[in-house]
Amino acid sequence: MATTLFTNVRVLDASGAPPFNGEVLVCGERIAAVWPASADAVHRPPEAQGAGVVDGRGATLMPGLVEPHAHLSFLDLPRSIELGEIPPEEHTLATAANARRLLRAGFTSCLSAAAAKPRLDVAVRDAIEAGNLPGPRLLAAGPELTVTGGLGDVRLEHLYRENFAVVLDGASDLRRYTRQLCREGVDILKINISGDAGTPAAPSDKTVMTEAEVAAVCDVALAHGRRVAAHARNGAAVRLALRHGVEIIYHANLCDEAACDELEAQRERIFVAPTLGHTWTTLHEASAWGITTAMGQARGLDRELADGIRNMRELQRRGVRVLPGGDYGFAWNRNGTNARDIEHFVRLLGFSPMEAIVAATRLGGEIMGRPGDIGQIRAGFLADLLLVDGDPLADPGLLHQPRTPHRVFKAGVLQAL
Ligand SMILES: [Zn+2]
Repeated sequence: MATTLFTNVRVLDASGAPPFNGEVLVCGERIAAVWPASADAVHRPPEAQGAGVVDGRGATLMPGLVEPHAHLSFLDLPRSIELGEIPPEEHTLATAANARRLLRAGFTSCLSAAAAKPRLDVAVRDAIEAGNLPGPRLLAAGPELTVTGGLGDVRLEHLYRENFAVVLDGASDLRRYTRQLCREGVDILKINISGDAGTPAAPSDKTVMTEAEVAAVCDVALAHGRRVAAHARNGAAVRLALRHGVEIIYHANLCDEAACDELEAQRERIFVAPTLGHTWTTLHEASAWGITTAMGQARGLDRELADGIRNMRELQRRGVRVLPGGDYGFAWNRNGTNARDIEHFVRLLGFSPMEAIVAATRLGGEIMGRPGDIGQIRAGFLADLLLVDGDPLADPGLLHQPRTPHRVFKAGVLQAL
């Protein structure tokens, strides 16, 4: 079994405790021991004898990042209907390239919030697990399940068009397609319960999926042991999701008091990821693609962002797990820049840098369903590690704009990216 000894590193273990100068021993794919540095090497465990040494030269060693809202098959295009024009073969290769990009950016685990075609995530996940592709550990999703007129329905009456969603109406059609996705091996079912800004027939404050439709997807997911994630912006949509056991709530920015109460009541079971990145960049950085700040404001995005900031602060205060993940994969919010969300959490939500990093690592391990395995530097955990030059607590921006590329270790192995 290969052993690696990290010396001269500042260990940011993501327990929430302050970092310390220390050493970390990795045996095989797992962390074997972590200890504070001292002047002598007497206290090193015997397994450290003969280990390959990585001298961090004072760099920060932290757990690999987790992306809880990944869209590896979204190809940074300005218009989502362009996703529907890419054949599956080319689309698979491009999804694989994004998997490598996210790993290079420090993400060793990703939970998918939808793929643009049914088997893109599944095929890439399996190739990564087989060791045939570099990429993060991936929980695969299928396309977003939406209803006629809902987010992702881009059809026109006289034209066939598709993007990242499959349009289904009624419990029976949703049940059948959910079973099909389970058969094809997805881990995550994504349902668009509420509308969204920019979807004329279904704005963010509308709840367009019915109780019976949500129940149908959740029943099938439960039967197959899969998990459900919901696009739910307003309070009614959040409450509908929670009534049927949805575990991952995306956005929740227009939550009302009753929805906040219910999220708090279920906080041991559920996760919230507001996806600040996409809203922020659509408002402030999309003018090159024809979306000015004034246009974003006309869509109500400034109000949605302000409400979201207020609600996320409130949910964090109530002990709800609020995670980054900013809907990266669009022209102005590109895959590979995902760690910007950590900075958004600090700057917009008022999280401390430590709280934001813990949300992106330790809570990330929890949303991956592997709380004892992923997201901390502790004996027994997988050695998914990031060696960052500098101090991300002093400057969280280092995580997405490193002075030198991060060194990324997955299962104890330095990734050549
Ligand atoms: Zn998304």
